[in-house]
Amino acid sequence: LQVVTDVVCPFCGTLCDDLKIIKDGNTIVDTMNACVIGNEKFKSAQDGHRIMTPLERDDNSAEFTPVSYDYAIEKAAQILAKAKRPLFYGWSSTSCEAQEVGNELAELCGGVTDNTASVCHGPSVLAIQTVGAPCCTLGEVKNRADLIIYWGCNPVHAHPRHMSRYSIYPRGFFTERGFKDRTTIVVDPRPTDTAKQADVYVPVEQGKDYELLDALRTALRGEKIEQEVVGGIPREKIVELGELCKSKKFGLLFFGMGVTQTTGKHRNIDIAISFVADMNKYTKFNLIAMRGHYNVSGSGQVMSWQSGFPFAMDFSRGYARYNPGETAANDILARGECDAAFVIASDPGAHFPVSSMKYYARIPTVCIDPHYTPTTGVSSIVMPSTIVGVEEEGTAYRMDNVPIRCRKVADAPEGILSDHEILERLYHRVKELKGEA
Ligand code: SF4
Repeated sequence: LQVVTDVVCPFCGTLCDDLKIIKDGNTIVDTMNACVIGNEKFKSAQDGHRIMTPLERDDNSAEFTPVSYDYAIEKAAQILAKAKRPLFYGWSSTSCEAQEVGNELAELCGGVTDNTASVCHGPSVLAIQTVGAPCCTLGEVKNRADLIIYWGCNPVHAHPRHMSRYSIYPRGFFTERGFKDRTTIVVDPRPTDTAKQADVYVPVEQGKDYELLDALRTALRGEKIEQEVVGGIPREKIVELGELCKSKKFGLLFFGMGVTQTTGKHRNIDIAISFVADMNKYTKFNLIAMRGHYNVSGSGQVMSWQSGFPFAMDFSRGYARYNPGETAANDILARGECDAAFVIASDPGAHFPVSSMKYYARIPTVCIDPHYTPTTGVSSIVMPSTIVGVEEEGTAYRMDNVPIRCRKVADAPEGILSDHEILERLYHRVKELKGEA
């Protein structure tokens, strides 16, 4: 048996980089340090449910015919070269290197390119663009933070090692006694498994996050909160919370989709940032979004450095334009505005409204994914790819925007190409078809 050390887990935005993978030849037999989800990511790479050859869907049926990569890439290139406004969507579970080529392909085609932030932390990105954000690294959280707030997120289930590696439990430089040196507050309408581990649980009323944050800011300033109860929380409790936050040396507000995708959306994050800014008058305070896909942060970074916008980027006018609500993937599918679509490293079939996916199933589409998914089932051309971080090296950005190099730990099934290689080949072929080579 061979043990590969210092392996990065390519599943969630925590990007744990201390995994050990135990191999027998090329077979992954076990993992160490991974949570149950991370373990499954490595095991499922070899569980026999992979797509092993490119596929072409027979005219509007559920039947697929196996084809070669050469054929599939040619077909896909023709679809994209012919389209007037193709949609490119996904990117969050592949490497920055692949994302870079993909965005160039979208620009070449005059299409729209969007990542999964548009249905998760897009509102956070909008708010951060508006008012900025006081951030720090997860390493600083581990070593310095004595107050952790989880607001609208449930890391016990979504980011299972987040609390043990970075926030509540690890021993840090200034937090030598681990959880004994920290106070944890969980704000959530439901008494989640994360809430059960909190010192203080705040059962905010569903959709009243903005009101509660506003009242907290009022309390911080020492002004009177007019209402006796705000967002289901009594006034005295809110004042107590404010005083608790002020009494700490270094606070961290982690927030999830319970805040970004409920009433108020980016305004909730806007006021959360203002709350954090207020807190910095009394102590040190930062906030970090609990990013889901392991490289959704990277996709925002790559799009931003290439064209200035972090998601929902529209090249149809010949320059990069950005207007979430109009240029995000689901908006475009829902309005039937794209005449072709390309999906990679995500599964809109499992997350988008049925009406959007019904439109997707009617237009020419290309999907790249290592596994069978609801999206591959309704795509015109399907190409399997290797898995970054398991069978392929690649760069990804952790939720605190620290870039981390993912390792290769096993060989991919023979003949399977990487996302990067498929995109490179597509890019060059589309360029030829458009007469720009
Ligand atoms: Fe992987 Fe996330 Fe689990 Fe860490 S917490 S092992 S990154 S799934």
